[in-house]
Parts: sequence; structure tokens; C-alpha cells
Amino acid sequence: MNYEKIYFDMDGVLSDFNKGIVELCKMEAPTQNPNTPEYDERMFSAMRKVDRFYFRLDPIENTLGLFKEVQDICGDKVEILTAIPKAIRNIIGADTDKLEWVRKYLGYEVKVNIVLRRDKPKFAKGSNYLLIDDTPNNIESWRKAGGDDLLFKDAESARIELKLRGILN
Ligand SMILES: [Mg+2]
Repeated sequence: MNYEKIYFDMDGVLSDFNKGIVELCKMEAPTQNPNTPEYDERMFSAMRKVDRFYFRLDPIENTLGLFKEVQDICGDKVEILTAIPKAIRNIIGADTDKLEWVRKYLGYEVKVNIVLRRDKPKFAKGSNYLLIDDTPNNIESWRKAGGDDLLFKDAESARIELKLRGILN
């Protein structure tokens, strides 16, 4: 397929959100969503106490390389589509920190779309719009909106999926 856009999620795909929760917030890692409201309360409360939580996340092994491989072939069709917590969670600077994370690890060329999670499916404008995301709920709503999807597990299996789609050689 000739893709119009290939969107990479950040948390759990490019940046190691769970490791950040464990190491920076000193909490048990979240399970795949939905988490309980009680867990979310504790998690966001812990995140508020960490200075620049999102900027401090480590990259997930081998995914920066995978991103750059896709970018080399697809150029500016590759973008980032990432969600930030709702305003009520009060994670100050989450958007700036995510943007600066991308600038640090992936440079200034890549377009970064920062939205609320519920708005992600609005980017699925057809079957040639691919989302690479680790959250099954996001994948499901993307698919319902008519986009193509790749549920991310790790860089190696994502690479195989991207080859099957003819995106990587
Ligand atoms: Mg994610």
C-alpha cells in the first residue's frame, strides 16, 4: 500500500513510559489500559512530583533506529501522534516536554502532533493512514475510524509488520 501518513505513538513505542513510572515515580508499572481510577489517581499524583517526567523518559530499545529507517524511506509522511493527559491531571509542561524529547532523540524535521487521547482517531483519514501504537484501545478506535493499524509489541516484530506492508525493505 502507498501510505499517506505513518504515525508513531510515543509512550510505550518510542519512549519508555512504564520504566519511567517505575523508576521516576517509584510505582508499579501500569497494566495495559484501562487502569483502575484509583491507580490513575496515584500515578498522576506521582508524575506531578517528578520534574519534566516526559522529557526524562528513556527511549525504548531499538525503536529510534526503526523510526529513522521508516523516515529514511517515507520522509515527511512519518509523523508522531501522541496524547497528553487531560488538563485536570495537571501535568504541567507535558506537551513541551514531549516535543523536546522528540527534538533530542529524533531531531527537528519530524512533525509532532500532540492531542488528547480521544482525538487520535481524527487522524485516521483512510486506510492508507497507519498508526503504530501499543494501546489496544487506541488501535481499536483507529481501526473503527477507517485507518490501518499496527499494534506495537517491540521493535523487531514491528519491523516484520512494516516489511509485510511494504514500508520497509
Ligand atoms: Mg502508547
